[in-house]
Amino acid sequence: SREYNIVVLGAGGVGKSAVTVQFVQGIFLNSYDPTIEDSYRRQMDVDGRSCTLEILDTAGVEQFTAMRELYIKNGQGFLLVYSVTDRSSLQELIKLREQVCRIKDNQHVPIVLVGNKADLGHARTVSFQEAKNLAHNWGTSSFYETSARTAAHIDDVFADIVRQIQKR
Ligand code: GDP
Ligand code: MG
Repeated sequence: SREYNIVVLGAGGVGKSAVTVQFVQGIFLNSYDPTIEDSYRRQMDVDGRSCTLEILDTAGVEQFTAMRELYIKNGQGFLLVYSVTDRSSLQELIKLREQVCRIKDNQHVPIVLVGNKADLGHARTVSFQEAKNLAHNWGTSSFYETSARTAAHIDDVFADIVRQIQKR
């Protein structure tokens, strides 16, 4: 089946690894070494087509490295993840998206905005509407609130990015 190279980006602690592992292995990680950067594969049917997703779960967004530039160059689609409990993690994505677009030399790179930890409603500091507006400013309606704990909307995120890549 066709392969799709997907890169998961976002601040430390937002749940990049938990989202990735929930999607690939169907389990919730209570803790995971924040410095581990690894890639995962999963087959998924999207609109009746078999797709192989190659997913890079990144770590250490803080420093800009040649390696990071390389994996952004090789990535076809990007999950930009923040936590609904952490305002600064949403702010970080603004810079991150600019970097992705600059490195890809394209303002219309396949991107899904992902607001994770939606199960932690009591600790929410970012509203659904606010993030939806940011996605709208980026020219996309691809925005989901997810929970790696409950698996809510996790598959939707990956199906969306595959569809965006297919349209290119
Ligand atoms: P990363 O640094 O972005 O890879 O973040 P991790 O995947 O390591 O997650 C950081 C912490 O948040 C861990 O303790 C996870 O168990 C927790 N976490 C991740 N996603 C969720 C979620 O959707 N809900 C809840 N309640 N906790 C989460
Ligand atoms: Mg991680």
